[in-house]
Amino acid sequence: MSRRSLHNPAPAAATLRARLDRARGAAADAATDALLIGPGSDLRYLLGQAGGSFERLSVLVVPARDSSGAVPTLVLPALEKPGYADVPTDELGIEVATWVDGEDPYRMVADRLGRNPGRVAVSDTMAALHVLRLRDAVAGAEQTLAGPVLRQLRMRKDAAELAALRRAAEAIDRVHARMGEWLRPGRTEAEVGADITEAIVAEGHERADFVIVGSGPNGASPHHDVSDRVIEAGDVVVVDIGGPIPEGYNSDSTRTYAVGEPAPGVADTYAVLQRAQSAAVAAVRPGATAHDVDAAARDILTDAGLGELFIHRTGHGIGLDVHEEPYIMGGNDLPLEPGMAFSVEPGVYDAGRWGARIEDIVVVTADGVEPLNTRPHELTVLPA
Ligand code: ZN
Ligand code: ZN
Ligand code: ZN
Repeated sequence: MSRRSLHNPAPAAATLRARLDRARGAAADAATDALLIGPGSDLRYLLGQAGGSFERLSVLVVPARDSSGAVPTLVLPALEKPGYADVPTDELGIEVATWVDGEDPYRMVADRLGRNPGRVAVSDTMAALHVLRLRDAVAGAEQTLAGPVLRQLRMRKDAAELAALRRAAEAIDRVHARMGEWLRPGRTEAEVGADITEAIVAEGHERADFVIVGSGPNGASPHHDVSDRVIEAGDVVVVDIGGPIPEGYNSDSTRTYAVGEPAPGVADTYAVLQRAQSAAVAAVRPGATAHDVDAAARDILTDAGLGELFIHRTGHGIGLDVHEEPYIMGGNDLPLEPGMAFSVEPGVYDAGRWGARIEDIVVVTADGVEPLNTRPHELTVLPA
């Protein structure tokens, strides 16, 4: 086994083959002639390799199942080919077509699409510079997004994907379990964040993707990063952390800590938040909608007069991306299905004063829910 595959374990060829077949079927169902998948998590899902070129076009052309005789083709700059050495292209029935600077790769893609394709779907993250040139090269075809086609596959995780998400969750739980080593008065958020970043890697992640340490008033900014603010006794601190494990699947978990006894009133508000979060987790089951899960949390906060302080959706899907479908929010009537994985993370944000959030990743099971994060949900009071 090469060094690369040791570091980035890829799914078995049979798994990738099944995904590619399903992607071709999903494209046919969406009346789309082909999916054009650039570097990123969609490509990693299909090939076990995310790729990486930017201004040079790399694209997997996935013809719809019923397009007669068309073969999936990986169009690559010749200099990027070694990066795909571990992709089992033969077993996947993928042809590799390389190009060198000076050649027109957009024309190569057009040539693979057969006569007069009516609709091609480009991956959501493809750079505009490629999207527009493909539009010129395949004039006459409608361009749509491949995300809505592939999400039918990616939202429903298989057993190996769920096992990877479980390992990621256990790793981030081990980091939260050590918070008392780092979080104390007199240290800056940035100092605490640096220690957390190191621990995220030490506990089994490939890297830390985000480290939010929101102390005192900074906790009221849901996507705060870290700052040079010095943590004080009595602060409430929101710690939201995560990153990918080598298989590419992500962790994402928030716990809220108090450094010494917090101000009066914090405990009561926090107790409502904790009830809201556990009610939302309990609402997760096959057939419930994403809207239902959001409402379970939001109704409790609203009834307690805290609805105005909950300024974001209840959660997001997670997998090869930290944020992916399904989004757990009001108005999303998507019925939940076994294998879906997403966060449940209501929060309260009292601008200028303090904030709190509780976030677990959960999986929809055959008859209910499996929370992957298992650290205590209470406000953890650390010594000041
Ligand atoms: Zn977020
Ligand atoms: Zn988070
Ligand atoms: Zn999250």
